[in-house]
Amino acid sequence: MNLFDVYPLYDLEPVRARDVYVWDKNETRYLDCYGGHAVISIGHCHPHYLLRVQEQLQRIGFYSNSVQIPLQQELADKLGKLSGYDDYQLFLCNSGAEANENALKLASFHNGRKVVVAFTHSFHGRTSATVMATDNPKIRAPLNDRPEVLFLPLNDETALLRAFERDDICAVIVEGIQGLGGIHVPAPAFLQKIAALCASSGAIFILDEVQSGYGRSGKFFAHEYAGVRPDLITIAKGMGNGFPVAGVLIHPKFKASHGLLGTTFGGSHLACAAALAVVEVIGRENLLANSARLGSYLIEELRRITKGVREVRGLGLMIGLELEFASANLRKQMLFEHKIFTGSSHDANTIRLLPPLTLQREHADYFLECFAKTVAQ
Ligand code: PLP
Repeated sequence: MNLFDVYPLYDLEPVRARDVYVWDKNETRYLDCYGGHAVISIGHCHPHYLLRVQEQLQRIGFYSNSVQIPLQQELADKLGKLSGYDDYQLFLCNSGAEANENALKLASFHNGRKVVVAFTHSFHGRTSATVMATDNPKIRAPLNDRPEVLFLPLNDETALLRAFERDDICAVIVEGIQGLGGIHVPAPAFLQKIAALCASSGAIFILDEVQSGYGRSGKFFAHEYAGVRPDLITIAKGMGNGFPVAGVLIHPKFKASHGLLGTTFGGSHLACAAALAVVEVIGRENLLANSARLGSYLIEELRRITKGVREVRGLGLMIGLELEFASANLRKQMLFEHKIFTGSSHDANTIRLLPPLTLQREHADYFLECFAKTVAQ
């Protein structure tokens, strides 16, 4: 059987990894400034993570959501404390798209509406309302009948105000920092305006922190820079440090009922063990502060490089480097000549830096030295 060929691949096979480094099958070491697609938060194969997951697997890895799984509450408690959302409720699932799909459905269940506001260059996932093909009207929200999405430019308050002239907006969904779109940070005043308009109109404010959450921005959630408290917050990538686990943080005003949401694999013993290891390490090792400190250092130093760089954007260790030319060749040079992984984006000129939050000054300096050399060529 052949693999369904949907990914363009580098000719490189990682076989082991530790902290910020990955080794290929020839024992060549690479610095991971891509974090395996923003997923590696506490560093590859962190010893506490290995122990937690291995111990859990020896006991029980999975049982369905029809029984008591106290690890889920332990995770909710520790995540609530670390994120400052201990008064919210947690729904556990498996991927970023699933978290957003559930958040949109919850919004629509809550206010009975179906018009969604989203922003240009956004990315929220690839599922397409699978429920529309499921023969059970009870789990189908009004949103699923005829989804209607208004795409507005990010940070355009006038367009936002115009959209809210209608009174049937179900939800606004926005990324804490736009990732795949090329690292665009929403202005704090813009997020505050969304929060205010949602509150006054009965729309639901959904913050997609799938990529920008879990300390990547230097705070636990990127939206903390704006001081807003969204109704629903979605999390995934950094949450399991590579184990597929995701979730929705849900404001107390949303009332749960049995069967409203659900999943087979979400919140398994093993997923909870992985997610618990991550929150424990982020807290113990003060990785939010490290992300903020190293991110500021990198951004400041990158802004000194003028040749070939049009703009440096981002917060913490979520950094976009917009070049004056298409970035594909430079990324290849960084990978094969300097042994550094970087990320692409939907903007051909913009490189994404999404390293593990354990990155240290020596790693940042190595990246800066190699990047400055390569971009000047
Ligand atoms: N939301 C954001 C902001 C993302 O960056 C992504 C993935 O890149 C997703 C949602 C979808 O997550 P997943 O690929 O886990 O479904």
